[in-house]
Amino acid sequence: MLKGGCYLRFIKSAIFILSLFLFVIVAVSPVSAKQVIINTDKLNVRDGPGTEHKKIDQLHTGDIYQVIQTGIDWTEIQLEASSGWVKTEYITIKEDVNMNEKTITIQHDNTQLRDGPSTDHDIIYFADKGIVFDIVDVHNDWYEVTSKDTTGFVLKQLVTNKAGTISDGLKNKTIVIDAGHGGQDVGAIGVDGTFEKDITYKTAQELKQELSVLGAEVILTRVKDEYISLGSRTSLANMPGTDAFISIHYNSVPDSPDVTGIGTYYLKEQNKDLAYFIQQEMIKEADAVDRDIKIEDFQVLRQNYKPAVLVELGFISNQEKEQLLLTNAYQKKLVSGIINGLEKYFAQ
Ligand SMILES: [Zn+2]
Repeated sequence: MLKGGCYLRFIKSAIFILSLFLFVIVAVSPVSAKQVIINTDKLNVRDGPGTEHKKIDQLHTGDIYQVIQTGIDWTEIQLEASSGWVKTEYITIKEDVNMNEKTITIQHDNTQLRDGPSTDHDIIYFADKGIVFDIVDVHNDWYEVTSKDTTGFVLKQLVTNKAGTISDGLKNKTIVIDAGHGGQDVGAIGVDGTFEKDITYKTAQELKQELSVLGAEVILTRVKDEYISLGSRTSLANMPGTDAFISIHYNSVPDSPDVTGIGTYYLKEQNKDLAYFIQQEMIKEADAVDRDIKIEDFQVLRQNYKPAVLVELGFISNQEKEQLLLTNAYQKKLVSGIINGLEKYFAQ
């Protein structure tokens, strides 16, 4: 919990954000990674990788086929009804990134489609989870998509366009991890007496360890239970070379012990992606109530000139969650979510 944080603020923020953003969460299905372009006329296609194999077809300059497998001398391509082999020296193989973005699959119910490529346009359709749309066109930040039922626009920025790929994007990245509170500033206090400062420290340690394994350089704003000013925390973040800053907090609303969930805050527009990816991945991993991403004028975000977010990882005012949050297993889920989010962010 942060100074001045209260339940009203959550409601206010939630309404504000709901009115501001589309939560369009879609994933892209890869269609094919590679294509070949034929570079010569009357290129023989054979039923195996060698001239001893039977000739089954002839191709011509400019023809395009999907690659099944590539060898040094021979490449197998997809023909209309079967497959065949051509000499690799007579073709150009290209990674077709556009082919990876032919369809999107809606990941959440009530995904909004609009009648134009901006939030100024009207919402014309709520798509159910699992519906597949073809991508018709791209308009800056928006995909124009179509299905048999409707045509509309969804925000491209929120599309996971590298679905399934694990980048090595964390290698050599410098991540500043800020364990909220510390020393005399205990932060929020849980139903059973957990201090927020202790659990943020636990998460920071776990996150540090996991990030280090992945080759990231990790800087902690506090390395033990001590009071560190917010200014000192952002000074560390603002050092040259920082690639991302994550401030870790837990929340508490003692008057509403049923409130639970995870939320991610950002302030500057350019950090919305980072917040979005981390939030999305944490929710996937931790199976928690999604409190979404929100804009908030926290000092650690305001005085930060690096990609910065603040995560509120759960409510220790909920007794069940307080106990769950203290377990190593659940901490690992939270940390996995943060890391997956960072990977998506750096893979953009
Ligand atoms: Zn806090």
